[in-house]
Amino acid sequence: MTATAAPDQSLHPGVIEFLSGKSKKFLINGRWQEAQSGKAFPVHNPATAEVISHAAEGDRADIDQAVAAARRALEDGSWPKMTPADRSKLLHKIADLVESHADELAQLETLNNGKTIRESRKGDLPLAVDLLRYFAGWATKIHGETIPVSVPYAPGTKFFHYTTREPIGVVGAIIPWNFPLLMAVERLAPILACGNTMVLKPAEQTPLTALRLGELLIEAGLPPGVVNIVSGFGPTAGAALSAHPDVDKVTFTGSTEVGRDIVRASAGNLKRVSLELGGKSPNIVFADADLEAAAKGIFMGIFYNQGQCCSAGSRVYVERSKFDELLTALTKRAQTVRQGPGLDPNTQMGPVVSQEQMERVLDYAASGKREGAKLLCGGQRLGGALAKGYFVGPTVFSDVRDQMKIAQEEIFGPVVAVMPFDSADEMAARANGTSYGLVAGVWTSNVKRAFQMAQKIKAGTIWINCYHFVDSASPWGGYKQSGYGREKGPYAIEQYTQVKSVWVDLN
Ligand code: ADP
Repeated sequence: MTATAAPDQSLHPGVIEFLSGKSKKFLINGRWQEAQSGKAFPVHNPATAEVISHAAEGDRADIDQAVAAARRALEDGSWPKMTPADRSKLLHKIADLVESHADELAQLETLNNGKTIRESRKGDLPLAVDLLRYFAGWATKIHGETIPVSVPYAPGTKFFHYTTREPIGVVGAIIPWNFPLLMAVERLAPILACGNTMVLKPAEQTPLTALRLGELLIEAGLPPGVVNIVSGFGPTAGAALSAHPDVDKVTFTGSTEVGRDIVRASAGNLKRVSLELGGKSPNIVFADADLEAAAKGIFMGIFYNQGQCCSAGSRVYVERSKFDELLTALTKRAQTVRQGPGLDPNTQMGPVVSQEQMERVLDYAASGKREGAKLLCGGQRLGGALAKGYFVGPTVFSDVRDQMKIAQEEIFGPVVAVMPFDSADEMAARANGTSYGLVAGVWTSNVKRAFQMAQKIKAGTIWINCYHFVDSASPWGGYKQSGYGREKGPYAIEQYTQVKSVWVDLN
């Protein structure tokens, strides 16, 4: 086992306590346990590359055990006997616990993922608490319908026909590393509100906040086996979960490539699948837009969370007459951003999550240069005091053609391609010119054009004169190869329930 660095004593006492000890165990059937193989893997702080902890490395045997625990909890014991109101109370209790531990969880998230403490504290944590409360409200409002049936081939017959909405069953949730706690909660809240049980597999880069959440679930009194959390790697633990014959549904957020693996793996028992995958989202600025607001929006659209957002506005299109002005403003801002460890309150941009991710981002920057795009800033690993961490400078490219790799492929890092355009018609076609369709931003003061663009762009979310706004009530998901199914809002209830029709003979 790689040596673990002693936790910084200025951290929150809860974080120090959580990080003390040799290795984090995972949660199966209400108990903390090591992997059956005895293996554990190192967990890094991307700002320093130091090992801050180890986590038990689950594989097929542990997933089998976790799925069996989730199945038992679904079918016997206290969970299926709980009323919807009790499930609602439990979710509220979890929300209260997450809220009262928000400072600690935010620090742990920043330490493990690298994002700034401001983003963890003001973004991820309040959203996680809100999701829990939003779906706590839904728990008591999930119901079927009575349907007047006619039965044309049996005239004169009478039936009472109704539907119920029942849990899907055991749900496997495989989540990424860019919003680790938030993604865990975004799945857990509707899954539990609907009465399911689950096995959560956090990303191998960022297992810590999910494991800490597990402790809070126990404190809240969640019955054993309802939520099992198995840390481990994608090709082993993740693949075992997505192929498991006793898992009824898999919900996945991650790359489009792995999304395809998940779909293939689901075929064995035809489990339900919902996928929230990659994006290469256009952020489009018309010349009549409020340019100051647009400049802020395109900056934040790409560089929030170091560009590690599936919804990153990584293709910026500016109407030609304002192109130079906006490009200069964006580049200037990118050059003056304060980079550093996320825990430093002065930091505006932290490191990317891992060495592998940093190398991937730098490879894309190199490919942009090779293909003839003009690098205006960034594109390199930072040196000096930050040389040990995985820091990449905010990277801006101009002279980009739509067919270049940096304009087609998801980079998932702080790299933006800025391109001019000449007309709204041309722009709609170019906006739709990738295999993705997750989100798009449109900046204009022309209302008619805003609506027209919203209609023409093939994406699951359109932001008009704003960017990166999300809410527990707003459905989230993609068109095309950005995935299928919608998380959040009432649509999530459909994802995690199934409908039963019941006929009662009244003849
Ligand atoms: P990224 O490339 O950004 O790391 P991935 O799509 O690889 O994103 O990872 C997202 C999640 O999917 C992680 O929890 C990871 O462990 C998991 N994963 C990766 N490969 C597989 C796989 N073959 N089957 C199931 N899950 C996987």
